[in-house]
Amino acid sequence: MSGAFQSTPHIERSEVELSIVVPFYNEELNIDWFFERIEAVLAPLNVAYEVVCVNDGSRDQTVSFLIAHHHRNPAIKVVDFSRNFGKEVAITAGMDYTVGNAVVVMDADLQDPPELIHELLAKWREGFDVVYAVRRSRQGETWLKRFTAYSFYRVIGRVSNTPIPRDTGDFRLLDRRVVEVLKQIPERTRFMKGLFAWVGFRQTAVEYDRAPRYQGRSTWNYWKLWNFALDGIFSFSLVPLKLWGYLGLMISLITLMYAGFLVVRTLLFGVDVPGYASLMVAVLSLGGVQLMTLGILGEYLGRVYEEVKGRPLYLVRNAYGFSNYPAVSMSTPSSRN
Ligand code: UDP
Ligand code: MG
Repeated sequence: MSGAFQSTPHIERSEVELSIVVPFYNEELNIDWFFERIEAVLAPLNVAYEVVCVNDGSRDQTVSFLIAHHHRNPAIKVVDFSRNFGKEVAITAGMDYTVGNAVVVMDADLQDPPELIHELLAKWREGFDVVYAVRRSRQGETWLKRFTAYSFYRVIGRVSNTPIPRDTGDFRLLDRRVVEVLKQIPERTRFMKGLFAWVGFRQTAVEYDRAPRYQGRSTWNYWKLWNFALDGIFSFSLVPLKLWGYLGLMISLITLMYAGFLVVRTLLFGVDVPGYASLMVAVLSLGGVQLMTLGILGEYLGRVYEEVKGRPLYLVRNAYGFSNYPAVSMSTPSSRN
């Protein structure tokens, strides 16, 4: 793959105006109500649409429910993964399969109100390429979740070179040209909110109140969220890597001064043996800092390893409703271009 993208590829207008991408993981309780609400929003719009549903290896009835909806309404299309690949990858796959001129990404649990699609479309028609939905409020979430989310957006805002909009989930509208650019990004660690911001183009925001989950439970526990946050920070910032260089420099300078002081003191007053405490503190704290540095190096190295292996991003077991895709397909970065 060459280093630079061939800018935005030439894009022909598609017959499908609007594509909706929805990742589904164990969402059987939400499916019927989800389609009822989304179809109520889409029908009066009078545009050709498609809803690309990605079943991310659900262990419940999700996929058979989705297929039933596909038979009822062929505009509902289903990509069935071979296993659970995670939400970020599911969104990526969904976008790969879309053909619409505008693509909206949203959750299946109705936390992203389908009614907002009107506003997203209106902004897009004004000429914006990316319209993201910013949460004015979050309902039905614990203070701990809100606090950790709040802190995360502030930390990543400070360390990342790409400004990542605060309090913004994946709920947004993308113009076809942005989707084509995203499809060319071969990164495995797909921190989508970062990538959405990284591409640039003309972006704008609309505000909304985030509803509580309709049914079922969020599958994101704090350990998953922590790792998600690390993915975000390590793929969009080198600050954790560079920090230790500066810390080392500072410690070296202090040590040098202290060494000078010791030499002078020894020359003037001779040797005195005690100093066990200061010695232990210095050895232990430096040991700790060095291990931490190694850990950070490991985080980056592990991600480099993931990229280098070049495994396909996702495997599709079956796809329903797509004319020009094989039933069983494998996605690799080069074949996705
Ligand atoms: N999801 C997915 N794969 C996963 C976990 C979640 O596709 O491994 C989907 C899930 O079905 C939902 C969306 O991602 O449509 C958001 O998930 P969830 O509501 O659990 O996350 P939260 O809203 O708590 O961030
Ligand atoms: Mg949710």
